[in-house]
Amino acid sequence: PRQPTAAVPLVALDLGGTLIKLVYTASCEGGGDGAELRFAKFERRRLHECFDFIRAKGLLGCNGTRSGKENVPLKASGGGAYKFADDFREKLGVCLDKLDEMDSVVSGANFLLQNIPGAAFTHMNGQRNPVDVSLNNLFPYLLVNIGSGVSILKVTGNRKFERVTGTHIGGGTMFGLAKLLTGCKSYDEFLQLSQKGDNFVLDLIVKDICGELVCQKQGLATSTLASSFGKVITSKKRLTDYKPEDLASTLLSAFTYNIAQIAFLVASLLGLRRVFFGGSYIRGHKSTMENISFAIDFWSQSQMQAVFLRHEGYLGALGALMSYGD
Ligand code: ADP
Repeated sequence: PRQPTAAVPLVALDLGGTLIKLVYTASCEGGGDGAELRFAKFERRRLHECFDFIRAKGLLGCNGTRSGKENVPLKASGGGAYKFADDFREKLGVCLDKLDEMDSVVSGANFLLQNIPGAAFTHMNGQRNPVDVSLNNLFPYLLVNIGSGVSILKVTGNRKFERVTGTHIGGGTMFGLAKLLTGCKSYDEFLQLSQKGDNFVLDLIVKDICGELVCQKQGLATSTLASSFGKVITSKKRLTDYKPEDLASTLLSAFTYNIAQIAFLVASLLGLRRVFFGGSYIRGHKSTMENISFAIDFWSQSQMQAVFLRHEGYLGALGALMSYGD
């Protein structure tokens, strides 16, 4: 994506509960008169890596320290913008211009949807298809931002939105449990584990309760989830008897379906048919998107559509970057 040339790189941050997201402009490689957007993320507990990156890339601009003045303030969204303001001042000599988190997430989503062709897509039945978005058909929509927690917003226009609800049982909960149960060290490792696992080892499905014959008679899909982790109760197995892969797979499906179901319920209450999903939880992971899409389609009887966004984890940081134009 190209942006107007800026003499000094524009830098914006979103300092969340788990991750620090950074978006900045850089001159186009190979010349050209535009600038491109670049993305970087760091674990919140490794704030120093973010500082090193900002220094190494020369992202504080040259109109600051050389003349002995303060650096230009950095636009920053997320709770960490308050918590870490002193660290940024002490370590980098820069102030943070703190922005409203939800405002930034919505601005970032609207920017992507209105300016980046192909930014929105569906992912269902193994197929990724672009969604044609234009100003006439974009609003209103539901935005479900799945980060450490989940925020659910009704967006009715540029800068027009309402945070309808949310849930504290989000990506942080799942990854926290995943670390305890599977011993995984990183989110990517967790996702890879889940790919190799089988959730039916731990999940109780309708067939387990009713038996196949009854399911057939009543027209119930045999593989419908009845209770995530439900098989564990009647088993003699201990935690160490389960494969980390199967535990990971069960965790991911339990959380993903639950969040998708809440999204469906909120969209139904508000009469919205298009639900955009953002946040680093999704991480461009195919089966996460497939499961969300399946769930939304299943519960809405194909009346609603789950739509995903490129750069889904950077909505807040992108929105913060957009605010330089205010
Ligand atoms: P926040 O702003 O609250 O930090 P994010 O949108 O960055 O939220 O999403 C954080 C969630 O994304 C985590 O809870 C986890 O589920 C997932 N995630 C994706 N990548 C990572 C990673 N590298 N480290 C930790 N969690 C990650």
